[in-house]
Amino acid sequence: MELIDTHCHLTFDDLAGDIDGVLDRSRAAGVTKWITVGTDPHDNRKAIEFAEKYEGMYAAVGIHPHDAKTVTDAMLGELKELAQHRKVVAIGETGLDYHYNLSLHEDQRRVFAEHLRIAAESKLPVIIHCRKAFEETLQVLDEYSRDVEKVVFHCFGGSAQQAKIVLDRGYYISFTGVVTFKNAEKKRAAAKIVPLDRLMLETDCPYMSPEPVRKQRPNEPALLIHIARCLAELRDMDLADFAQAVTATSKAFFQIL
Ligand SMILES: [Zn+2]
Ligand SMILES: [Zn+2]
Repeated sequence: MELIDTHCHLTFDDLAGDIDGVLDRSRAAGVTKWITVGTDPHDNRKAIEFAEKYEGMYAAVGIHPHDAKTVTDAMLGELKELAQHRKVVAIGETGLDYHYNLSLHEDQRRVFAEHLRIAAESKLPVIIHCRKAFEETLQVLDEYSRDVEKVVFHCFGGSAQQAKIVLDRGYYISFTGVVTFKNAEKKRAAAKIVPLDRLMLETDCPYMSPEPVRKQRPNEPALLIHIARCLAELRDMDLADFAQAVTATSKAFFQIL
């Protein structure tokens, strides 16, 4: 069995400090490829460094909506340059976070739009972070994503109805361990309606370990297997068949072999 953790933060201290152990445990669990997602300029460079160093690892580059207020033209220029790197497979994470509101909405929208422009120019897919801003995120996408080829809503926390809206636009959806939580019935209902050729898995580690290891800190890619098992069961599918399908979707989305 082969799984891909399509959204993790392996550069963060909790994981980077034990990266060899983290990757060994991941491979042993069948999770053999990783997309480590950058969140700020320093982290983007580190993500690329990691992707160069470790086989099976790829990078996404972007500036998190939390940091939108810090973004300068020079930072966006660098992002555009980094997007050309052979191991960079996506732009993000970008989007809107109206839950924490760490940057003004206006700044978040501007920076999100700039990311979409860079993704279109670089012909790379976009990883969207959307929290408490569903309508607003769709509005920005309406305005700026015309030339963007592929879009994924990461850590999807919406309803089945919202999932349908996302799918109808041709976008992809990925789920974290949050979908395994006991009180996550609504998210599981959403997961159930996503066709396998639009569905991906991610840990978003070091955050949010899945059930039944929710208390484990930090979360790490090896634990992706619990998310795969939960979603396979939800569909009454054999785990191996489910894994094969979502891995094929992930490879096609990010254009990795
Ligand atoms: Zn996120
Ligand atoms: Zn993330």
